[in-house]
Amino acid sequence: MIFDLIIRNASQIVTMEGENLGVIEGGSILVQGGKIAQVYKPAEDKGCHAERVLDAKGMVVMPGFVDCHTHLVFAGSRTQEFRRRMAGASYEEIARKGGGILSTVKATRHATFEELYEEGLKWLREMLRWGTTTVEIKSGYGLTLADELKQLSVIRSLSEEVPQTLVPTFLGAHAFPEGPSREEYVNEVIDLMLPEVAEKGLAMFVDAFCDSIAFSNEETRRILEKAAELGLGIKLHVDEIEDTGGARLAAELGAISAEHLIKSNEVGLRAMAEAGVVPVLLPATTFFLKEKARPNVDLMRELGMPVAVATDFNPGSSTIFALPFAAACGALVDGLTLEEALKGITINAARALGLADEVGSVRPGKYADLLLLEMDTWEELLYLFNRNSIRTVIKRGEVVCAHE
Ligand SMILES: [Zn+2]
Repeated sequence: MIFDLIIRNASQIVTMEGENLGVIEGGSILVQGGKIAQVYKPAEDKGCHAERVLDAKGMVVMPGFVDCHTHLVFAGSRTQEFRRRMAGASYEEIARKGGGILSTVKATRHATFEELYEEGLKWLREMLRWGTTTVEIKSGYGLTLADELKQLSVIRSLSEEVPQTLVPTFLGAHAFPEGPSREEYVNEVIDLMLPEVAEKGLAMFVDAFCDSIAFSNEETRRILEKAAELGLGIKLHVDEIEDTGGARLAAELGAISAEHLIKSNEVGLRAMAEAGVVPVLLPATTFFLKEKARPNVDLMRELGMPVAVATDFNPGSSTIFALPFAAACGALVDGLTLEEALKGITINAARALGLADEVGSVRPGKYADLLLLEMDTWEELLYLFNRNSIRTVIKRGEVVCAHE
């Protein structure tokens, strides 16, 4: 049999399957029809032929990275807000002077479809260079029906252009816009936006920012119960600023994942573990905001939860789009082991998107989303996180990015 592609001579293949990342020293990967056909130990591939052979000598091979939480489609820059924040201004002061999420909402509403598309394309290309082959993207900078649809349509168009798999999430419940009362806006999301988003098939998931400064537990529950009724998956931003019992709410609502979790209490985390909700940590945000609090990683580990790590890329609270850096923050900021951090941006991130049967590990039957990294052992990815060691990015069996 002639395969489409064979990757040979890798120093290590990090499969993410089983204990300790399932590292195979040496070995090769056979690809057929965009999927992984076979993973061989050294010398087992004798007699296998392929249309294309990639020599991975001096390289470590890993699955493509999965960024399971981003706000990548936006307009405007918050550089000046960053300067003021570093000079000592509080987030609240900045918001009062027209900064914060609502300043990005203003810029995003003002931007044309094409402008948003070009900006999004720029960031997705940067991410590809850093090995991200699957990206979740949330709306939430429109906060009117028309502007939310504009953002979601940009994500759909981008998904036709870029090699990455894009997973769209509707986040109408990101902030309260100026104008309508709280109740009016929540009703607008439920009665107007959700049915339209579901009917047009523009989102896989619905998310809400449930916290003391954003949507209450009751408002969140109303919105997400409607989302579930419409057959959409549920995600939640919870317990970032304060513990409002968001983790437990995520478990009750049957969310696929809950993100931030910095202030989550033990009861909530136990409920999440029992309900199988994937915890998503955003340590790059903690770093960028100079936050003091940390999520209870020890308890998550004790409960055997599949911890995911994402960039949270957005113009206000995390300008980090490189997943290796976010994973390094998972270790340096949040206290994950290197193995946990790496699983966090691959197999567990895929779980947070319901894609664990398709991507996130090197296993026969999964898509051949693979990275060739110039390094001796996989630990270097996190040790030398500031060096881009990625030499080749493969998406569904095709080389989509290569650099020296
Ligand atoms: Zn977020």
